[in-house]
Amino acid sequence: MKILSYQSKIIKKEYLNSDIFHLKLIKPNGYTFLPGQFLQTIFVDLKRSYSIFSKPSDETIDLCIKLLSGGVASEMFKNIEIGEEITISQPMGHFTILEDDIERTYIATGSGLAPIISMIRTSLEDYEHKSKIYLLFGLRYIENIFYQKELEALVNKYPNFSFDITLSRPTTSWIGKNGRVSVNLAEKIIDKKNNLFYLCGSPEMVKDVRKILIDNKIDTKNIKFEIF
Ligand SMILES: Cc1cc2nc3c(=O)[nH]c(=O)nc-3n(C[C@H](O)[C@H](O)[C@H](O)COP(=O)(O)OP(=O)(O)OC[C@H]3O[C@@H](n4cnc5c(N)ncnc54)[C@H](O)[C@@H]3O)c2cc1C
Repeated sequence: MKILSYQSKIIKKEYLNSDIFHLKLIKPNGYTFLPGQFLQTIFVDLKRSYSIFSKPSDETIDLCIKLLSGGVASEMFKNIEIGEEITISQPMGHFTILEDDIERTYIATGSGLAPIISMIRTSLEDYEHKSKIYLLFGLRYIENIFYQKELEALVNKYPNFSFDITLSRPTTSWIGKNGRVSVNLAEKIIDKKNNLFYLCGSPEMVKDVRKILIDNKIDTKNIKFEIF
């Protein structure tokens, strides 16, 4: 199948922490996607996948890119400037949500938050989802935290949404949850056998969390995941 590509101008580049930045692109005419899908950025022969951080009804296409030291695309993104055009593919992937009003638990680490925010915002803001939505967001250090204010704003506006941030290497000043997401999961999965679980992050996190869910009798068909 031929993959469609589009030219898109960068209109904002903002660091969310020291190694993750938010890139805002003009949405090409007719570009539609489902919450949770990803696109490929194409630099000549170099293709890399990035989940779409914005939701389909937003006016821009936003990405949340973690810069990996020594990574080829990461080095190119580090130097990219506002006003430049990049080539993006059509949206892809099946890590997405339906409009059904079912309770959902999301587990994300690092830039794995990107597709999950698109899904959560779409459910709350556009689908007017009333069932509970919970997000467990894992990061390593306090300095790595991003998007907390926006998550708090969603909590204030939508009583059915709640979230926790857990740090695997917290300092003593941190008053939130400690430890990896897998450590903090147990209390959230009791009585949630009919939830849909959405996981996104590193292969290790997805493997560990998926195993815990399956060991707790969560049906595999109710566990959706995307690995970065
Ligand atoms: C479906 C999907 C969605 C994704 N969505 C996102 C997203 O929303 N945000 C995001 O940030 N990422 C996302 N990714 C990951 C992304 O596609 C890239 O894999 C990532 O940005 C790294 O690309 P890169 O070219 O910078 O690194 P690569 O060049 O591909 O390098 C990969 C790894 O090797 C290491 N490496 C490379 N060269 C060297 C070297 N010389 N010495 C030592 N180590 C080296 C790098 O540090 C890195 O850890 C997604 C991946 C998939 C599959």
